[in-house]
Amino acid sequence: MREIFVILFVILVLLGLTALRYRKQIAGILGLARALKDAKDAVGQSRTISSDDATSIPLVNCSKCGVWVPQNKARKIGEIFYCSDECVQLQKSS
Ligand SMILES: [Zn+2]
Repeated sequence: MREIFVILFVILVLLGLTALRYRKQIAGILGLARALKDAKDAVGQSRTISSDDATSIPLVNCSKCGVWVPQNKARKIGEIFYCSDECVQLQKSS
């Protein structure tokens, strides 16, 4: 049974030496893996956002208060968008 421990010890030492020798490469690979994971997460997030109904609808800027609202929720007077009836009334009165 002792031979197994000796072999395991030798393998561990070899792995340790290899890790020591290639630690920069290993760190690089780990960094790359992390970057890939981050990129994947970002893609996943943007996919969840794009699955929302808001993404296919362009945002428009209220010409009165400057709030960005989805085009389908904005009030359109002529070619000008407003976020709400309030802003339309304010614009008319001013
Ligand atoms: Zn507004």
